[in-house]
Amino acid sequence: MGPTRIIDQYLLYCEEMCSDFEPLGKSSLFTILDACKASTRKSLQGINYFAAEAGEAFDGIRKMIEDKVALHNDSARLIENLKRARFYLKSDYKVHVARSSNIADHCCVYALSDPEKRDFAQDCDHEHNESCAECSNLTRTLNEIERLLEETEEDEELLHRTLKKFRSYREAIEAWKAHLLRSINQDLCRENLLDKLSNDEIYLNLDWAMKFLPIKSREPQSEFFGKRGISWHITVVMKNDASAEDENSIFDEDTDVLDDSQQIIEHEMTDLSGENNDDNGVIDKKKKHSFKYKVFVH
Ligand SMILES: [Zn+2]
Ligand SMILES: [Zn+2]
Repeated sequence: MGPTRIIDQYLLYCEEMCSDFEPLGKSSLFTILDACKASTRKSLQGINYFAAEAGEAFDGIRKMIEDKVALHNDSARLIENLKRARFYLKSDYKVHVARSSNIADHCCVYALSDPEKRDFAQDCDHEHNESCAECSNLTRTLNEIERLLEETEEDEELLHRTLKKFRSYREAIEAWKAHLLRSINQDLCRENLLDKLSNDEIYLNLDWAMKFLPIKSREPQSEFFGKRGISWHITVVMKNDASAEDENSIFDEDTDVLDDSQQIIEHEMTDLSGENNDDNGVIDKKKKHSFKYKVFVH
């Protein structure tokens, strides 16, 4: 929203709510808005700290080059490329990552192999001789921004500080990209386990879900852990749908889990599964596997 509209709305609000209140003059209000910009923010609590820090890093870098727009005509293009790179990491990158890929940036095995310890490394059976336009865009844009900062800052002390800040932002962005790859790898592993799940096995996924009480609009997990409030733990029980006759006996055992959890008095447990019929079955499209699942919140 533009400052003129904000001020008009504010004046209208003052008039409606308390007509005897005399608001500041328009020019003072413009000065205030100029010094502390109004912005709309969504509340993002408990998002993992990789995403929170990378989000701040992208904003921070954009701010660094926005200040240079007048000095350098590349700034606008760099801001645009930075936006594109951020959008790519949020969207298509997750689809591009695979267990094996000719693009080094997308290859899980290559990315997760320890470069020094052979025990933690695996060789790829392919070359990494292709490149991804979007991954290159991120690297190239960050390199170009670093160069631009070096070229436009004359004071040595200031340049030193600016570069230090820039490099910490860059690390945060790269850490987020690495985190995305690790989480995709974990998902692939889960899919793999479910593919091999036999009829007399169940798959349990235990996870800490969230706590209440927001403090900040963008709150990383590091600040979230020590928070008071109610913890939610979620357990998902999955079984292959083929063994319909065993179904009841297996899910009856889950009541044991229920009883244990109730010992923690403040934690409420709800069985969210309701009617656990075929409609709720998760179907793996590739293998046409069908699973029954129950979700427990405790
Ligand atoms: Zn590879
Ligand atoms: Zn890519």
